[in-house]
Amino acid sequence: MARVKIYTTDSCPYCVKAKNILGSKGIEYEEINIHGNEELRDEIEKLTGRRDVPQIFIDGSHIGDDDDLEELRVSGELDKMFSVETQNDNGSEIRNVIIIGSGPAGFAAALYAARASLKPLVITGNEIGGQVAKTNDIENYPGFQGESPTELMKIMQEQAERFGAEIRFDMVTEVDFEQHPFKITTYDLKILAKSVIIATGASRRKLKVPGEEEFSGRGVSYCATCDGFFFQNRTIVVVGGSDAAAKETLFLTRFASEVHLIHRRDRLRSGAIFQEHLFNNEKVDIVWDSIVEEIQGDENGVTAVRLKNVKTSEQTIHPTKGVFIAIGVVPNTEIFQGKLELNENGYIITDHRQRTNVPGVFAAGDVQDQIYRQAIMAAGTGAAAAVEAEEYIAEIEHRAYPGR
Ligand SMILES: Cc1cc2nc3c(=O)[nH]c(=O)nc-3n(C[C@H](O)[C@H](O)[C@H](O)COP(=O)(O)OP(=O)(O)OC[C@H]3O[C@@H](n4cnc5c(N)ncnc54)[C@H](O)[C@@H]3O)c2cc1C
Repeated sequence: MARVKIYTTDSCPYCVKAKNILGSKGIEYEEINIHGNEELRDEIEKLTGRRDVPQIFIDGSHIGDDDDLEELRVSGELDKMFSVETQNDNGSEIRNVIIIGSGPAGFAAALYAARASLKPLVITGNEIGGQVAKTNDIENYPGFQGESPTELMKIMQEQAERFGAEIRFDMVTEVDFEQHPFKITTYDLKILAKSVIIATGASRRKLKVPGEEEFSGRGVSYCATCDGFFFQNRTIVVVGGSDAAAKETLFLTRFASEVHLIHRRDRLRSGAIFQEHLFNNEKVDIVWDSIVEEIQGDENGVTAVRLKNVKTSEQTIHPTKGVFIAIGVVPNTEIFQGKLELNENGYIITDHRQRTNVPGVFAAGDVQDQIYRQAIMAAGTGAAAAVEAEEYIAEIEHRAYPGR
């Protein structure tokens, strides 16, 4: 019998992350998919006090969610528990191109680099498929009218692999751009690369209010597709005003009895089509000019949010069982601080050919795009970065490069 039991649901990138961590270590697990099963959902809540997935048990003990599993991985505890042999990192292998990230920018770069016979290595990070895999639908990616965004990302991955891209589930922890070949350190390896394409995208911004950390997973969520099912027939709030917030609100109306969208201004930033859907949905109520000052709760999780009206300063208590936070993103550039030029908001600065200030290091997608932040742009800039990397390698190897 498997020593690991993992409760998951459909369309849950964090469940995929947990399964990938186990898979990358060759650890077998029993998966219990709770999708649509109220008994199993209630069982998790009873066993763990949590309203989110994945939830992981090892030898019958609850060890937590994907983040807790990742901590076990990073500390080496997981290897010890399952007698996994640590990989040797000799740091002598030189790759043509290392692509950091597996969202649309990373996979598009991988496809182009692979078709140029560069045999790129993609280091996926924890979220294969990137932010796209976290959304419930994508209607504006030209040529794609498939079932789900996860399917789109799977197609992108398979297409890159078909031309020779190597995909590795791992996380880059350090980069050294002062030496060439560049040195990339991951959880498990040290690798050298002639060129690097950074496609680390962006992550959800936190509200940074009292109660947010305390009730994370017990009512506070950053993933509607993962956790929406826990809020069937309950009143919930979504915080935000962008397209992403509008999409999450509309998705959550499938489960919740009422969804209150809390927005700090008197008009939304989301596109007209989303606004129309929101205004026409009787389960949706928009709370204008308001910010969340505190998330309140008890031993059973979230019970309310304390709101402040920014125009009148009036404070109100708004009862709710769930708080979905969709207030934008921050670029994933922590490991590049002091190594590359970033702008005042932490985005990597690139020129119109995706070049950073370090020759041979390119960046694509949301990590360098503060304006559009869309999958199609990410894929386009990823492709451009790969073409530029190809030319850079030809140059340093004194080979002719066609077309320039
Ligand atoms: C809720 C929501 C709905 C959206 N809806 C749409 C939509 O309908 N249409 C649309 O076009 N766009 C939409 N977007 C935006 C779109 O998802 C992004 O613009 C796009 O995913 C950006 O792609 P990217 O490849 O640049 O980065 P991301 O998708 O953010 O991917 C980043 C990748 O980098 C990896 N990574 C991060 N750090 C590291 C590290 N240290 N080492 C290795 N890997 C790392 C991550 O694991 C991930 O694979 C939506 C976004 C959200 C959040």
